[in-house]
Amino acid sequence: ASLAAMPTEVPAAHRVQDRTVEPAASPVVGFENTPDSDPAIAANRDWAGSILSRMERSALGVETAETHVLADEAAVDAAVAAAVAAGEAWRALGAAGRAVILHRAGDILERRRGDLIEVMGSECGKVVEQSDPEVSEAIDFAHYYAEQGRRLDDVDGATFTPARLTIVTPPWNFPVAIPAGSTLAALAAGSPVIIKPARQARRSGAVMVEALWEAGVPREVLTYVQLDGRALGERLVAHPSVERVVLTGSYETAQLFRSFRADLPLLAETSGKNAVIVTPSADLDLAAKDVAFSAFGHAGQKCSAASLVILVGSVGSSDRFRGQLVDAVTSLEVGLPWQAATRVGPLIGPADGKLLRALTTLEPGQHWLVEPQKLDADGALWRPGIRDGVRAGSEFHLTEYFGPVLGVMTAATLDEAIDLVNAIDYGLTSGLHSLDDGEIQTWMRRVEAGNAYINRGTTGAIVQRQPFGGWKKSVVGAGTKAGGPNYLTGFGTWADAAPAA
Ligand code: GLU
Repeated sequence: ASLAAMPTEVPAAHRVQDRTVEPAASPVVGFENTPDSDPAIAANRDWAGSILSRMERSALGVETAETHVLADEAAVDAAVAAAVAAGEAWRALGAAGRAVILHRAGDILERRRGDLIEVMGSECGKVVEQSDPEVSEAIDFAHYYAEQGRRLDDVDGATFTPARLTIVTPPWNFPVAIPAGSTLAALAAGSPVIIKPARQARRSGAVMVEALWEAGVPREVLTYVQLDGRALGERLVAHPSVERVVLTGSYETAQLFRSFRADLPLLAETSGKNAVIVTPSADLDLAAKDVAFSAFGHAGQKCSAASLVILVGSVGSSDRFRGQLVDAVTSLEVGLPWQAATRVGPLIGPADGKLLRALTTLEPGQHWLVEPQKLDADGALWRPGIRDGVRAGSEFHLTEYFGPVLGVMTAATLDEAIDLVNAIDYGLTSGLHSLDDGEIQTWMRRVEAGNAYINRGTTGAIVQRQPFGGWKKSVVGAGTKAGGPNYLTGFGTWADAAPAA
C-alpha cells in the first residue's frame, strides 16, 4: 500500500479540515451511546467502592494478563505472516458476520466494566470519574464500528478491500478506549490486527483484548504483542505486509515512523496544545468549571486537554473569572486513584524534562495564580497549577506539556484571541465560551482545530456525536476522524466495481 492508495476519496464535506461545509448527518440506525455509571445511584457507589478496594490491592503488584513477547526478527516476521493468513477468513466472514462478533465484544466490555476500571486505576493511575466514561467509549466504538462496517459493503459502484494487516500502536493515556477504537475499526473494516500496547499500559490493553477474544475474534486475527527492543518496533511497523499503521502519540513519533519507511500508510493522531477562549458574554461559572475539568482531568495527560485559557476584554482585566478558576482548581482533591475523593491522580511517571520545567519555572512576565505543588517523593503526584501572564510567542504559549499546568493569556478582542490560538502549530481541540451568536460564528469560521467545542470542555469526545481528530501538526496521514462516519474507510482501499456485463 502507498499513501496514494489512502482514502482520498472521502467526500470533501467530511474532511477534517473543512468545517465551512455542513457535514452530512449520518446517524447509524440502532446505535445509541452507552451511558456512564451514575454515582447518584447508591448501588453504583457500592459497586465503585468494591472496585477501589480491588484496585488498591492490585496496585501492589498482582500481574494478570500475559502478552506474546516477540524476541527477534524471525518472531516478528512469523507473527505478521500468521496474522495476514488469518485475515483471509476474517475478511470472508463479511461485514454482517463480523458485526455480530463486534456487538458481542461491546457487551463483554460492558460486563467487564469493573475489571477495566480497576486495571486502568492500578496500572495507569486513572480515577473512576475518568475511566468509567473511557469504558463507555470503548463499548461505543464496538457497536458503532460494527454498524459502520456494514456500510462499506453497500456503496454503489465501488468495492472496498480491507488492509491485509493493521498495526495498532496506542498510547498509555487512554489505555482502553484508544487501543479498542483503533482495533475495532480495523476489525470491522475486515483487517486483522497486531497491537503493541504502550509499555505502561499492557495490562489494561490485555483485559480489553481478552474481551474481544471472548467475543469470538480469533486470536490469530487479533495478536497482542510485546517487543524485545526498539529495533523490532521498526521491523514490525515497516514490514512490507503491513498496510495500515495506527498511531496515537506525539508528532515526533509519527515522524520517526515515517523515517522507517517512506510510504508508510500511517493513520496518526498526534500532539495537541489546546486553548479555551472566554469572552465577556460567557457563562463564567460554566466556563471556570469546564476549563478546570479540561485542564486537569487525568492530571492533564490528554491530547485533548486544555493547556491555555485566553480571556477576552473585561474577563481578563477583572479578577472575577480568575478567582472562580482558582477556587475550582484548588478544590480538586489530589491523591491516589483508589481513594474515593480523588479527582486528580498521579502522573504516569515522575515529571521530568519540559513538563518539570513547566511545573516549576516561570518565564518573564508570568506569575503563579496557583503554584503547582509536588506531593510525593518521586514527583508523580502534583497539585495542579495555573500560571498567569503567558505572552504571545513564549514557550508556554506554543509547547505541549501533557501535565497538570494551565496558562492564562489575555486578548483585547475575540479576533486577537483566535490569532493566539492559530499561532500554535497543533490543531486538535479548541474551546469557546460565549453566549453571543456572532462571536460563535466568527470563531467557528476562523479557529484552526479538528474538534471545536462551544460552551463545553475540550475533552471527552463522544462517539458519533463528536468524531475526533485534528489538523495541522495534530494529524499525520489520512486524517479521517475516529468515531465518525468515514473512519473505517481509512482501513482499506476502494476500487470501481466492474460494470455489469
Ligand atoms: N478522545 C479523547 C478526548 O476526546 C482524547 C484522546 C487523546 O488524548 O489522544 O478527550
